[in-house]
Amino acid sequence: MRLSVKAPAKINLSLDVLHKRPDGFHEVEMIMTTIDLADRIELTNLSEDTIKILSHNRFVPDDGRNLAYQAAQLLKDRLNIKQGVAISIDKVIPVAAGLAGGSSDAAATLKGLNQLWDLGLSTDELADLGAEIGSDVSFCVYGGTALATGRGEKIEHLPAPPNCWVILAKPTIGVSTADVYKNLNVQNIKHPDTAAMISALNRGSYSDICANLGNVLESVTLDLYPEVAQIKDQMERFGADAVLMSGSGPTVYGLVQYESRLHRIYNGLRGFCDQVFAVRMLGE
Ligand code: ATP
Repeated sequence: MRLSVKAPAKINLSLDVLHKRPDGFHEVEMIMTTIDLADRIELTNLSEDTIKILSHNRFVPDDGRNLAYQAAQLLKDRLNIKQGVAISIDKVIPVAAGLAGGSSDAAATLKGLNQLWDLGLSTDELADLGAEIGSDVSFCVYGGTALATGRGEKIEHLPAPPNCWVILAKPTIGVSTADVYKNLNVQNIKHPDTAAMISALNRGSYSDICANLGNVLESVTLDLYPEVAQIKDQMERFGADAVLMSGSGPTVYGLVQYESRLHRIYNGLRGFCDQVFAVRMLGE
């Protein structure tokens, strides 16, 4: 038996880090929304009791380091399942880009195997399991638009942003999330207004969403990697309504409502960046 599942990327409309906790995790407030840029996960039952990862992307690990592998292993361990599975990952989401690609693959694997193996777990139960794999996996299980607090695993659903286009540009540099957090001084940095973003979403105000995009990690990454600042400037100059770095970067995204402007920004950026995407928000 075989099943195909979509694993969509997320962007941060807002990302705040409040403080470092005694357990080493950071206490965060993030508003995330899913976008129509997705990996495709294909799950196939195997006769032997093993987990196999198939991927043509050299940056995607094919062993226990893969988050989709960890998702399958967690279900097998918790529910004492002896069935094996091949997980084929058609990677579209850029890797280590601040778009939660690995977390979304894990979430899609949890949801897909719940169906393929007829486990009967609820979405909340899958999200709780996801939190054991990584901080962003719970959000990816639900998708849509949400406020994530704690270390990212406590989810409150929010209305979707009004329809618009998202242009994403990923420079060809790898950003170390650990380095970004190491260089973050939460006392001495401009924090986004999370409450204002929640209010903008509740009112469905596109202009207030644009005005309140904010990411506390952005200035840290921009200092470490000037290429990211250049792409931000270019996207602003080409006419995006608002521009922000997603997660710890390096992907920068711009919002735009009109398709004519979208083409201008997309074509302009293609000259500077090899990975540029123009997609819709999924949001719901
Ligand atoms: P986040 O936004 O949640 O911080 P990210 O988008 O920055 O995540 P990922 O694409 O998830 O980063 O990849 C981070 C690392 O995780 C990669 O360097 C890779 O080695 C590892 N990884 C594990 N599983 C996967 C997967 N299924 N897809 C991509 N990377 C994976």
